[in-house]
Amino acid sequence: MIRLADAHCHLDGSHFQEGPDAVLQRAREVGVVGFVVVGLAADGERSGESDDERLEPVRVAIDLARRTPDVTACVGLHPHDASRWSADLHASLSALAASAEVAAVGEIGLDYHYDRSPRETQRDVFARLVGLARELRKPIVVHTRSAPEDTLAVLEAEEARDVGGIIHCFSEDRAFAERALALGFDLSFSGIVTFKNARAVRDVAAWAPLDRILVETDSPFLAPVPHRGRKCEPAHVVHTARCRNAAPKRRAGPDRGADRSGARRASPSNESRLRAAALAAGEAMLHATGKRLEKSWWR
Ligand SMILES: [Zn+2]
Ligand SMILES: [Zn+2]
Repeated sequence: MIRLADAHCHLDGSHFQEGPDAVLQRAREVGVVGFVVVGLAADGERSGESDDERLEPVRVAIDLARRTPDVTACVGLHPHDASRWSADLHASLSALAASAEVAAVGEIGLDYHYDRSPRETQRDVFARLVGLARELRKPIVVHTRSAPEDTLAVLEAEEARDVGGIIHCFSEDRAFAERALALGFDLSFSGIVTFKNARAVRDVAAWAPLDRILVETDSPFLAPVPHRGRKCEPAHVVHTARCRNAAPKRRAGPDRGADRSGARRASPSNESRLRAAALAAGEAMLHATGKRLEKSWWR
């Protein structure tokens, strides 16, 4: 059985009333061996009025990671909720993010597609949270939508390369990918790569170095084909990894010919490079995150 990791999933009770354990078990049964579970302060559906209530989703993710060996947590404040940032919330989030169970600070970033918080506020809060990750010496999980230039500008200005991290749910172009990789950010691909109209994203996945890409579900959103339109769960990451629709005719990426076993297994004529890369990505993620094991990426 292939070994894959889901680099980004939301398992909140509001989405999975059965609780996370059964959901995780279904994924393990198809070969998913690691999970990064996201816990967000002031997460929309469960956000209360007090900071203590707003941090409940963060605590839930940390508790799950504490009692589940193959789960690690990332915690942050989504750009949608940037306007709910306060110095007190930041301090409390910082204390929680310092927990050993927290692998990374995220998702944080910019979302100019929905503009649920003013853009200036989003940039300001994003910068502060990059600062938090640097203080904690933990990598960053970046959410970016319709804001490529400003996202890179904040990462560059705040010296995010000191900690690196992941661009989650990658949906940008190759120029963005090149700059993100240079800043020390790996690219995590969601079910979007299986969508018929996502050719540009598939091309980036087909080009990027094998050891710099990951797969994720972003469950409960963005279910890959053949589950598109339904609720996504971590077991579905297998379909993202197996995506056969990539165009293999792209020129070789920087590490073409690398000796990863996944690459050697690939037959460009009938099996896309993306498939090989994505299959390898589960291993690569375990491997890559293993490098950060000392920093509690995987336990
Ligand atoms: Zn996101
Ligand atoms: Zn997410």
